[in-house]
Amino acid sequence: MEVKQLKVGNMDNFCYILSCPATNRAAVIDPGADAELLLDTLQRHGLILEYILATHFHYDHTDQASFLRRETGALTAMHEEDVPHYKQEVDTVLRDGDILHIGESIRLEVLHTPGHTPGGVCYYGHGRLFTGDTLFVGDSGRTDFACSHRPTLGASLRRVMELPESTTVMPGHDYGPTPTSTLLQEKRHNINAVEYGFYKESA
Ligand SMILES: [Zn+2]
Ligand SMILES: [Zn+2]
Repeated sequence: MEVKQLKVGNMDNFCYILSCPATNRAAVIDPGADAELLLDTLQRHGLILEYILATHFHYDHTDQASFLRRETGALTAMHEEDVPHYKQEVDTVLRDGDILHIGESIRLEVLHTPGHTPGGVCYYGHGRLFTGDTLFVGDSGRTDFACSHRPTLGASLRRVMELPESTTVMPGHDYGPTPTSTLLQEKRHNINAVEYGFYKESA
């Protein structure tokens, strides 16, 4: 799996293009605000977009999803509990444990990680975790929205912290000192690690 991390919009959003080198089939995670940049990048690398994967319904992550869907014919996917909040069409309604295949080589598992939104998900595969607004480098998602719930986010974070510590964290915003990190780094340095019960002291 090849991964491109792109900065889109004016809220430091990260969007990801995942592609299968053997087939040039691709998926975009959280297209955000800059569909033209995405279309250019897809075209430049000869990629065929199959899926537009939303980590959650918030506008800064889904703004150009419909446009991109119309332009490419790709399927929009979102967790069932966020679909009612999203006012546009969703082709593939996701549930916890669903497996998505892109091309021949990409396999992603859907992990339902509610708390920031009711239907927030992380996509997990190939040693990487695409966390949207569930987990950032050094921080975690806001829980002051009407449909957020702080204890629920804590439970979601404790769950993802059970994945291998070497897993690379690919966050939904560029809020940290580095664009990516690992679960081990987050256990040691995340500002909410103690409160949410996943803190691990450095050796
Ligand atoms: Zn959000
Ligand atoms: Zn966001």
